[in-house]
Parts: sequence; C-alpha cells; structure tokens
Amino acid sequence: MQAVVLHAFGGPENLRLESVPDPSPGPGEVLMRVQACGVCYHDVINRRGNLPRTSVPAILGHEAAGEVIEVGPGVEGWSVGDRAATLQRLSCGECNHCNDHRPSLCKEDNRFFGEEIPGGYADYMTAPVAGIGRVPESVPWPVAATACCTAGTAIHTLRTRARVTPGETVVVTGASGGVGLQVLQLARHDGARVLAVTSSAGKAEALTDAGADEVIVAPDLHFSRQVRELTGEGADAVIEIVGSATFDQSLKCLAPGGRLVVVGNLEAGIIQLNPGLVIVKELEIIGAYATTQKELQEALRLIDEGVLRPWVSGVLPLEDASRAHARLEDRGVVGRLVLAPSH
Ligand SMILES: [Zn+2]
Ligand SMILES: [Zn+2]
Repeated sequence: MQAVVLHAFGGPENLRLESVPDPSPGPGEVLMRVQACGVCYHDVINRRGNLPRTSVPAILGHEAAGEVIEVGPGVEGWSVGDRAATLQRLSCGECNHCNDHRPSLCKEDNRFFGEEIPGGYADYMTAPVAGIGRVPESVPWPVAATACCTAGTAIHTLRTRARVTPGETVVVTGASGGVGLQVLQLARHDGARVLAVTSSAGKAEALTDAGADEVIVAPDLHFSRQVRELTGEGADAVIEIVGSATFDQSLKCLAPGGRLVVVGNLEAGIIQLNPGLVIVKELEIIGAYATTQKELQEALRLIDEGVLRPWVSGVLPLEDASRAHARLEDRGVVGRLVLAPSH
C-alpha cells in the first residue's frame, strides 16, 4: 500500500509518500480502508520530534475514518463493511480508570495512533476495536475522520472537564482551529456566553459565524484586559487551546473560582505560574486529553443533527501531507485539512 512515512523528525519535507507492506489485523483488531485522515496540530508536534513515545520510521495520523474490510481473531461486534472512525488513543476497558469512565487515564493500554501504533496517513490501517467508534451513514468521511479530535475534544473539554453551565462566560484561545471552532459552537449551544481569542483579524468573521458572542483580536496575545472589560470580574472558564504562549493571560482572565482547562500546547513550551493568584482566587487548573467512545458517539450525533457544523477546509491527496503540515504551521488554516488516499 501507499503510506506517508516519517523517517526522521524535523520539517514537513520529511513526510514522504512511499510503498510499504500491507498491514494485517491481529487479535482484537480490524483492518480499515482509510477514506480520510485529518491533519492535526498534534501531528506537527509529533513530526518535529516533541512526542517522546514516537519512534521513526512512523506513519502519523490519529484522525482516520474508513470501512472495516477485515476482522481479526476474537473481534466481536464489528463486521466487514462497518463504518468506523478512530479515537486518538486506546484503553484497556478493565482497569480502575476505565471502570471509572476515565479511559484517558488508562495506563494498561495507552497506545496512541500515529505514535506507538501506525496511524491513518496511509491507504490501510489496523485498529484495535477499543480505539474505534461507529460512524452513521449520513456523515461524510472527511467529517467522520475529524469528529473525534475536533467535536469530540470539544465535548470532552467543555462538558466533561470544564463543566460549563448555561449563563457562564467562556473564553476560548486558539479559537479558529479545528477544536476551537467546535468549542465555540458547543458553548453557544449549551447556553454559555462565548469570547473567542485570535491572533489574526482576518479570522474574526469565521469566529462570529461559529458562535462567538465577542471576538478579541490580539496579535500580541495580550487579551486579559479586554476580557475584564467585557466581563467585569472575569470569565468563569477558559478553554486553553494554545497552551504555554497564552497560559499566563488565560489565568489572569479568570473570575474568582474560575476554571482553566488546558487542552493544547502548540509550542510544547514551559510556563511560569504565580501560585498566589491560584490560591487567593481559588482557581482550578484542569487538563483535558482524549475523547472517549461515548463522547465520539455524542459528537457524531450532534454533527448529524446539525448542532455542530464540521469545519473541513480542504481535502488533499495523501501525497500532499507535507504541504498540509506547512500550511498548518503557517497558521493559514481555518478548520481542518484532511488527507484522502486515492486507493
Ligand atoms: Zn487530532
Ligand atoms: Zn484501562
């Protein structure tokens, strides 16, 4: 089969299409014919060599969707012809964390597609069934591929982790990316007042369209004063998609008792933190990691019902993986780019 292989960490040019052996499903796995695979900023971080669990050569991509074309030994509940989309990572389904409905914390099987196991930048991929969800007929492949990491992450972050309730004010950093646009729509749908932060004025209209009540354009990434002007005491929650570069401002945006939910760290940077601020305002700093199977089903349902509008901004052939990465790094993408194998 054809696959995009990363032989060395580094620039986008290191992603090259080549012929590799066809994969075959092991026990508990299915073989999927990949119809679409989203290109996520996580893949850029991975390609640069900033994710310690990846070793090269690697096939990246944790946002894949396609049909099941073969079922490995011991698989129940999946058949040839089923439509599937991947979760970002696996879980064992049996440990304390899994039983507690927190599969993101599972250590028994924490393999991540595109890191320890090959991902979806390929014609075909194998997937353990703990790492896939069902895709309704009505959802197109590029949308199905990106649902987990965009709409699913929005559900995990905003509902499960941030616990946002109607009437609360939510600030979203990095609002124009694939996750950000879904968080804006979901927050609006769930009855929150939504403030979107972007570094580029050109993206403001898309953010308003997606559901932002106010757009704060902050090329210098200083936005906490504007949030205070708009809210008085500050925001009830900040969804921190950018990470280290905006963390300090996000913390300063919060009202007393506010929650800062960290779901992205684009530059993989380190931050300095004033514990005093966290103490006197009784702030909560919360992490949000991977989407669960239940959250993926909810994401696909909300997409199917038209509550969440997917934002696939382009579908490129597999061989354009390096171009897709370069565009993402130039911050020139609103929504998600998707690679589609030609088979
Ligand atoms: Zn992703
Ligand atoms: Zn587990």
